[in-house]
Amino acid sequence: MRWAQLTLVEDDPGKFDLQFWLDYFQRTRSDAVCLSAGGCVAYYPTNVPFHHRSAWLGERDVFGELVAGCRKLGMVVIARTDPHATYDDVQAAHPDWIAVDAAGKPRRHWASPEMWVTCGLGPYNFEFMTEVKREVMSRYRVDAIFINRWDGSGMCYCEYCRKNFRAASGHELPRTTDPHDAARRAYILWRQQRLFDLWRLWDAEVRKINPDSCVIPNTGGGATSALDMQRIGELAPTLMADRQARRGLSAPWVNGKNGKEYRATMGRKPIVGTFSVGVEEPYRWKDSVQSEAEIRLWVADGVANGLRPWFTKFSGVLHDERWLRPVEKIYQRYAGWEKYLRNEKPLARVGLVYSQQTAWFHGGKVEDHTLGWYQALIEARIPFEMVHDRLLDAAHLAPLKTLILPNITALSDSQCAQLRAFVESGGGLIATHETSLYDEWGAKRKDFGLAGLFGVTFKGRVEGPMQNSYLRLEADSATGERHPLLGGLEDAPRIINGVRRVEVEATRPFPSPPLTLIPSYPDLPMEKVYPRVLKTGLPQVYLREEGGGRIVYFPWDIDRTFWEVLAPDHFKLLRNAVVWATHEEPVVTVTGPGVLDVTVWQQKASLTIHLVNLTNPMMMKGPVRDLIPVSEQKVRLRMPEGAKPKQVRLLAAGKKVRSDRSGPYLNVTVPSILDHEVVAVDF
Ligand SMILES: [Zn+2]
Repeated sequence: MRWAQLTLVEDDPGKFDLQFWLDYFQRTRSDAVCLSAGGCVAYYPTNVPFHHRSAWLGERDVFGELVAGCRKLGMVVIARTDPHATYDDVQAAHPDWIAVDAAGKPRRHWASPEMWVTCGLGPYNFEFMTEVKREVMSRYRVDAIFINRWDGSGMCYCEYCRKNFRAASGHELPRTTDPHDAARRAYILWRQQRLFDLWRLWDAEVRKINPDSCVIPNTGGGATSALDMQRIGELAPTLMADRQARRGLSAPWVNGKNGKEYRATMGRKPIVGTFSVGVEEPYRWKDSVQSEAEIRLWVADGVANGLRPWFTKFSGVLHDERWLRPVEKIYQRYAGWEKYLRNEKPLARVGLVYSQQTAWFHGGKVEDHTLGWYQALIEARIPFEMVHDRLLDAAHLAPLKTLILPNITALSDSQCAQLRAFVESGGGLIATHETSLYDEWGAKRKDFGLAGLFGVTFKGRVEGPMQNSYLRLEADSATGERHPLLGGLEDAPRIINGVRRVEVEATRPFPSPPLTLIPSYPDLPMEKVYPRVLKTGLPQVYLREEGGGRIVYFPWDIDRTFWEVLAPDHFKLLRNAVVWATHEEPVVTVTGPGVLDVTVWQQKASLTIHLVNLTNPMMMKGPVRDLIPVSEQKVRLRMPEGAKPKQVRLLAAGKKVRSDRSGPYLNVTVPSILDHEVVAVDF
């Protein structure tokens, strides 16, 4: 539940204070630890040829001493290895273990130029690193071996990679990143196959020695990650979600998003959220210390989304100790909440689909659409899950009422059939822009794969970028009333449009479209800025019902534009679309000021509602300076049938609170939230 990682640097043996770390693991109530064993540097007296012992190791076995100390504390112990770099003697003896660049030259390491970059897909990993793992496992019988940077460092053009790829695909290694290039597409698949083969080999070898162990390659993530998350979900008993901190313009909910992405294919398997105590920017200040508030918020959002925290520290000798006390406090807090963090299942009813095949084979900025939806769902305080596009079968979708497809362009016929079945059984579906306009290989279709569900046909053109275009808000021609999609926009005659739109034509009647197009008109000179056409009647949203399900299709890039512009009018449309499509009372409503990430979980003997307070002037670009409390929040929870709550507690406030029951709803007032509050309803 609480992980520690100590990654030693080569000169640590003899310098660092081993007992200090054991004490710290104990003070933080860490129950699992990852310790440096070997690969790049061996911290034990290895006998594997070319396995480089730390030059400071002497006669010691630093790894073994740490393992013994942690075992005394009752911790789960995993060994860390890193195979991505090696030395001159290795390069001289085994030049075929070294990565080769596109020009055919062996690659020096970019940060430590006296070293060499290794090939991830050849004998260095398949043979040498397998020996290292066998040795570590037979000597120490650790619970698992973690492998950092195991999948190569970019394209490798070594003799093995060229030969193996040619034999497997008939192609030469690609020299383009264009996913429509046949060799590139084959490479994306072949590389995955090699890495899954490597993973299986390593896993089988360590399990021969210790059947209760496994290997944990550092891998996985969202749409843009390189290895198929569906296969990873089948293969891995646990994984580390390695998103260590915010960088640049990232939102504070990115850690939680990572948790949701892993859980989409890992289900209930434990997922560990690796966080850094330092500044994670491209300049890689690896010995830096981040602000306490930023670390707290980052970890809180991970925990609220099902991640088990893992602090990672490089170097056993500390150059700046300011992180020690904050992390200790964070860990002690979550240790105290442990029985409420075991998470049987999330109770969210909305699913946001992500698609690796869209990122791999169609390409483009796929994340911008997803990030727009993610921000909108956070602002709307709607609990939601991420859903992997290769797990759209009825069993996986059963807990969900509504699916959102944020410009999921690449979908196969069978995936489209699964989505139709979901709607036919009463599910809501929201899709944007070019969703399903390409097949699973990124090849353009004549028409949307979901044309029937959307009720439109593709007219052959995607317009944009559009300047100065708008949407007219329309009332129903029969009743004079506006559609609930336009809720909160009662006084608006028009709002801004997005940036790109697909030209479509309705194939069914849409008698009163709530949004219609006002086409672009000049934005300069100012004298010419007047609409040439006031009313086109061309719908820019298609809403329909089928088989009990509700479908919303936006032909424009509302989600991507929202991520870029963050217009409140677009937010309202996104929120209202989810509410209308979902068409049921929400599991939880939280009313009050501020921006909260709201998640809701069923435990063995309780329900837990996490409220992570993201309200902060540094919300959209960290680091956070101070945590700023939000005032009173009214929480209304829809109770599962037959549930009889015994008591309601606020875990951060550390007290019981009064609750009112009205029908199926439980009402609780949370007076204030600093960073992370949990409403725990005990049964
Ligand atoms: Zn290679």
